[in-house]
Amino acid sequence: MQQNSLAGRHALITGGGTGIGAAAARQLSAAGAKVTVTGRRREPLEAIAGEVGGAIAQCDVTDRAAIDRAFAEARAANGPIELLIVNAGIAESAPFHKMTRDSWDRIIATNLTAAFDCAQAAIQDLLASDNGRLVFVASVASIRGVPYAAHYAASKHGLLGLMRSLAAEYAKSKMTVNAICPGYVDTPMTDQSVARVSEITGRGEGEARSAITNMNASGRLVDPQAIGNLVLMLCLPLSRDINGAAITIDGGTSA
Ligand code: NDP
Repeated sequence: MQQNSLAGRHALITGGGTGIGAAAARQLSAAGAKVTVTGRRREPLEAIAGEVGGAIAQCDVTDRAAIDRAFAEARAANGPIELLIVNAGIAESAPFHKMTRDSWDRIIATNLTAAFDCAQAAIQDLLASDNGRLVFVASVASIRGVPYAAHYAASKHGLLGLMRSLAAEYAKSKMTVNAICPGYVDTPMTDQSVARVSEITGRGEGEARSAITNMNASGRLVDPQAIGNLVLMLCLPLSRDINGAAITIDGGTSA
């Protein structure tokens, strides 16, 4: 097995149509992987699948039956899922005393329960592979609290508990389980955060973007390609002993 190639391996990326997921799709495909992208909206999935020659398995990850159907479509197109990138996620914000139960439920369902469902739906494939890889896209909000985003931080903290438990439970297998913890990244999710801050505070978009950018200690947004690169690194056969790691990529924010 070539240590720096993913030739012929099937990578399924949830939320693969945009932002970090799309960047991961490009990098994994460039390393030779057969890529399947999932998400709710068809248009961005078609764009990235067209670009990398990948397959589409459209689904809402908050619906377990839909995940099972989508993963079956993915297997029919590209074979067993050997690399699973659990990346789909949403963010909302509100002061805790105004946070609604609906918002809490949405965030936990999408960012945490769906991660459980996706991992479980692919686990037999991942364990059967010579180099199974389960990568969760978590957040710096997995390792520190976030004002006005208690639900988001709780969901992302939970993701690390899931990741570490699976890494420990399957440590003797050929699969690894890891998480990537980015700071603010230059993606549509951050664009939405900028718009929200601007709307709530009445500040212009430029000022709101600068405030969010400065939440990263580096004073700049992380490049989604850099996250894709980290996903690729974790997926390489040579990374087989990186297991149970939560790798920050945040310009020093959590230092
Ligand atoms: P995007 O909004 O571009 O990506 C989120 C993706 O998730 C979209 O492609 C979206 O597709 C998909 N998604 C959301 N909800 C669902 C759902 N119910 N079912 C299926 N797919 C869904 O933002 P990012 O690329 O930034 O986000 C990717 C991950 O990175 C998220 O988990 C996020 O929490 C995490 N992250 C992002 C940071 C940032 O600063 N941007 C920082 C740290 C972590 P669709 O809407 O079509 O379903």
